[in-house]
Amino acid sequence: MLKRVLSVFLIFTILLCGCGRVSSEAGAVSEAVDDNYRNYYEIFVRSFYDSDGDGIGDLRGVTEKLDYIADLGCNGIWLMPICPSDTYHKYDVLDYCDIDDEYGSPEDFDELVAECHARDIRLIIDLVINHTSSGHPWFIEATDYIKSLGDDETMDVSVCPYVDYYHFTKEDKGAGWEKVAGTDYYYECNFWSEMPDLNLANPAVKEEIEHIADYWIDKGVDGFRMDAALHFEEGDTDFNASTLAWLYDYCKAKNPDFYMVSEVWADKSTIASYYESETPSMFNFALADAEGDICKAARGKESASKLVDRMIECDDLYSDTYVSYIDAPFITNHDMGRAANALQSDETSVKMAAAILLSMSGSPFIYYGEEIGAKSKGKLDENKRLHMNWSSKDMTGITEDPQNADQNIEQVFPSVEEQIIDSESIFNFYRTALHLRNQYQEIARGEIQRYSGITTDSDDQAVVVKTWNDSTLYIAYNTADSEAKLTLDGKYEIVGQLNAAGGKSKVSGGKLKMAPRSVVYMKKK
Ligand code: CA
Repeated sequence: MLKRVLSVFLIFTILLCGCGRVSSEAGAVSEAVDDNYRNYYEIFVRSFYDSDGDGIGDLRGVTEKLDYIADLGCNGIWLMPICPSDTYHKYDVLDYCDIDDEYGSPEDFDELVAECHARDIRLIIDLVINHTSSGHPWFIEATDYIKSLGDDETMDVSVCPYVDYYHFTKEDKGAGWEKVAGTDYYYECNFWSEMPDLNLANPAVKEEIEHIADYWIDKGVDGFRMDAALHFEEGDTDFNASTLAWLYDYCKAKNPDFYMVSEVWADKSTIASYYESETPSMFNFALADAEGDICKAARGKESASKLVDRMIECDDLYSDTYVSYIDAPFITNHDMGRAANALQSDETSVKMAAAILLSMSGSPFIYYGEEIGAKSKGKLDENKRLHMNWSSKDMTGITEDPQNADQNIEQVFPSVEEQIIDSESIFNFYRTALHLRNQYQEIARGEIQRYSGITTDSDDQAVVVKTWNDSTLYIAYNTADSEAKLTLDGKYEIVGQLNAAGGKSKVSGGKLKMAPRSVVYMKKK
């Protein structure tokens, strides 16, 4: 509420001033902008916050922590799957229109939606349509029918429509196919025997998915995170992109602001081809993970200039395909080792990765715990999805780790409780970067261009410019371990600085002096 009052006051002040400062001042009231450029926070509900003491995180726990997420500066949440499922991660769905009992009830979800919207947070949920659980009633019906067939009978869709919901065949196609027990039939299951692949070309399946979309849109969700879009039909980009386009158009007809971000875990040219779907976002896997450009530049293993090249290459490719795309950059997600592992538990590198991510165009995604430098261990998925470390003293709300996770994985950085009160913490670094991002709309929305008006002696520094709504912001990167001096081409003022290694950046005598490993935001005077 305070923010809204301040915004109204600022707008009023700007109107009174009535001069050319309106456009640059507009950045100061940016939190009033209501679009799909958001700072997303990815939550694995099981490991986030337990509201009732049974050791399992739940929807009410997420609701209890909304003020934390809003204060951090995020205004979007992605919930990993919440529908009934037999697995701890719930990526194999038993019922698409219900909430898993472990997480709560449909009413708890309604309350979460209402509380998100009261805070201007958009809520998107994982939608897993590549496959169902092998325990889903559709698959049970289909396989029961197949098992009932005599030796001289073949499948008849008019008798059991569910056999056309999946891919069944008598042909042995090898890997990615499993036998229906006790029959000559195989079914497609590219991820796991208990995750049979849906036949998304079947109009009856599409109709079912439309009903599922209806259910969630009517419950107030603001978007879907589309799981495994690369695998809808293996190797068939046109089909997969057109499937995204069909569902997005359907959802958008119900809610013009509907958002969709899809998982296409592939290189940038493949990602670009999925933008043919003209759906808003694809996760930018091209720059993510331990060996991606964000982490490499954050560790000082790739120059600022190379990083900027890579950001511009992605933007050129993606915008050529779909001019209205919204990039979805991230450092790591639930399928990857934690960012702090990729960055070798080095606090400066962890902060620099945050500074880079949160300077990028589009809607960045932060995986819960990344904002405190949470650690994972090895390649086991459960070890990438550990409990949120809220406090080292008070165990309230802290969840049990997934069953197969290693015990007592060491955390290098302190708990949320300790980091919140430490102005130099990773948490407060993220918070500052996110609030700057909310203040200066150009960071997310402006088209990125290299700016050669400001010169530097080394590739370890680079400058880009972004303009949005007649307001221009200059973003300077220094990936070197040492201070850097850049020569300015006019009068600039620093409006924000993210100094991962500490120190201070400043403008004086026609130079921008950058602290080691820093990102600086400037406006022309
Ligand atoms: Ca619980």
